[in-house]
Amino acid sequence: MSKTELTIKDITARAVSAPLKNPITTSAGIIPAAPLVLIDVTTDQGIIGRSYIFGYTPLTLRPLVQLIANLAPLLQGKSVSPFARFREFEATFRLLGRQGLLGMAISGLDMAFWDALGRAADQPVAQLLGGECKPLPAYDSLGVIDPVKDLALLENTLEQGFNAVKIKVGAGDLQLDIDTLAAVRNVIGNDLRLMIDYNQSLTVPEAIRRINRLAEFDLEWVEEPVPAEDLAGHAQVRSNCNVAIQTGENWWFPEDASRAIAAGASDYAMPDLMKIGGITGWNQAVAQAKSASLPVSSHIFVEASAHVLAVTANAHYLEYLDVASAVVSNPPQIIDGELTPTGPGLGMDWDQKAVEEYAQ
Ligand SMILES: [Mg+2]
Repeated sequence: MSKTELTIKDITARAVSAPLKNPITTSAGIIPAAPLVLIDVTTDQGIIGRSYIFGYTPLTLRPLVQLIANLAPLLQGKSVSPFARFREFEATFRLLGRQGLLGMAISGLDMAFWDALGRAADQPVAQLLGGECKPLPAYDSLGVIDPVKDLALLENTLEQGFNAVKIKVGAGDLQLDIDTLAAVRNVIGNDLRLMIDYNQSLTVPEAIRRINRLAEFDLEWVEEPVPAEDLAGHAQVRSNCNVAIQTGENWWFPEDASRAIAAGASDYAMPDLMKIGGITGWNQAVAQAKSASLPVSSHIFVEASAHVLAVTANAHYLEYLDVASAVVSNPPQIIDGELTPTGPGLGMDWDQKAVEEYAQ
């Protein structure tokens, strides 16, 4: 072990319910506040690496905190080498598998390890990985839009200079989708790129019927029209529609990316840092996407995603859906619809007062 190598001293995990500027509304329900687990990896050298994971429901918070605490003894005294720890986790949990809460915990730890390495080098992670901290095109990620009541949200999108926006659809019938997209196009005009997300809510025949009808709204992509695990179904939708299909946020680790690409399930890829295996898993997944010529976008985790997109060969869009700004003292800033990764590390510090206030 070299003198400068960081070693893991301890790991702490804290649950918070972080207020959101707007609740996340989807065809599968509403998330009123972000259930997050904040991870701190302390090192014997005094550097602290930080990350957060998103539990989707408060029900996962206590199990995740306990699981991360249980992983700490396996890691104490070992080097902060994301690659070495990633391989070790894979071997240790070979029989269990790494999907679900364990996959989330492993991915969160990986992001915190990278943050620690960046802080130790006094560099943004993007630079540590060999990239530059340049502005990245982002899209504003909105929820289900009521075609009458929610149009002000789109005015805000325009004011921030975004040239792309995504809305969630599928909460009602095709006519509601048509009314919503007509109202949205009316506000944003024809120049802005527009994506829609069905959040896995349709059957294959219904997806084909709706997407072909909605193609007139000039859609950049249609996200997860059918259940995420139905790779053959996504491939079928793809071959029967003239709109690009986007999937990836539910790929667990790089092996799932490989299966989805082999099945021809998607025109684009949008891995989620918390499900793909953190930054280490992301790098392995996006290398496959590059080989298959799939443009790569990110999924939530705005801060860390900016760093990995900076070194993603086929980078497409950063999803701007900020779930942690209530507990971060220096939340990422959108300037003219773009976001620049900041450091050191992942460029994220906890607002301790807010963390205490929203503790679960
Ligand atoms: Mg989605």
